[in-house]
Amino acid sequence: MNAVAELQLLNGLQQALGEQQLHMVYQPKVSLRDGGLRQVEALVRWNDPELGPVKPSMFVPLAEEHGLIDELTFWGLRTILRQWLDWRDAGLDTCIAFNISALSLQHLDFPDLVERMCRGLDVPTEKIVLELTEGATQPLVKLMDALTRFRIKGIGLAIDDFGTGYSSLMQLRQLPFTEVKIDQAFVADVPHSRDSRLIVQAVTELAHGLGLFATAEGVETIDQLRTVRELGCDLVQGYLVSAPIEGKALKPWVQKFRRAWPAMIAEEKLALWGDIETDPRSEWQI
Ligand code: C2E
Ligand code: CA
Ligand code: CA
Repeated sequence: MNAVAELQLLNGLQQALGEQQLHMVYQPKVSLRDGGLRQVEALVRWNDPELGPVKPSMFVPLAEEHGLIDELTFWGLRTILRQWLDWRDAGLDTCIAFNISALSLQHLDFPDLVERMCRGLDVPTEKIVLELTEGATQPLVKLMDALTRFRIKGIGLAIDDFGTGYSSLMQLRQLPFTEVKIDQAFVADVPHSRDSRLIVQAVTELAHGLGLFATAEGVETIDQLRTVRELGCDLVQGYLVSAPIEGKALKPWVQKFRRAWPAMIAEEKLALWGDIETDPRSEWQI
């Protein structure tokens, strides 16, 4: 992106934050055991009157670079807490997962602030899960203090995009996470790639051994869903289950999905070690 385009985007974002042009959509995360809704992940959307829809992967890093991330985070938190109240009033009981920039965790009082916001609106902290990604300049291990404080307050912590970038197995052991989200890169070819399958299985087993649960992200096909289920993942999220939807669409979705679930997991006889590429070691093993 050139400097002019970046400046235009930045001005637009500043205005969007001030004029409420941002909104949240929500993507269900369901249990692979019974198909029940366990969480929804909040994903921010920005539709600029001039620029059109702008992807969060474009403007979130920009907000981080130019000091707007805290404003975006607080807008997001207020929005999801109000949404949770609307769902509760409509008889829906779910947790909300919220993506958080590691930068926001550098403020020492941030965990207290989140707790106060929850208390102020009467939302139990146990209903909130924060999703974090490891960044090159923000090793999560440096945020141990903040993460521990969130856990003490009952807020869940998920490590996002696990297996890509800088995230490591060590983080799982050292930090107080409650959930591992296995990146969609591994999930995509899990039905056909022996390597991806081994990775998903190993991460899931490790997560369980450490008392965390494992979520498969970006599930788009029935084969992927059935395979990650066989491999022991706990939760699934992706276009197959639902694209991100408006808050008010969640209740009708729950009713529709309840009817769709049994067919998704029918014909469970999955040739787990069948039609996959040959073991690469067989070429050099004697
Ligand atoms: P993420 O947290 O890894 O979110 C998952 C992304 O995958 C979302 O893209 C979602 O729409 C997309 N997705 C969901 N299911 C599928 C699928 O089956 N297949 C494929 N190919 N993609 C799927 P989105 O909404 O464009 O968000 C991109 C990233 O922007 C997020 O990645 C997250 O890191 C960041 N982000 C989104 N909302 C927020 C926010 O409110 N605050 C912060 N700090 N970051 C956010
Ligand atoms: Ca996420
Ligand atoms: Ca992710």
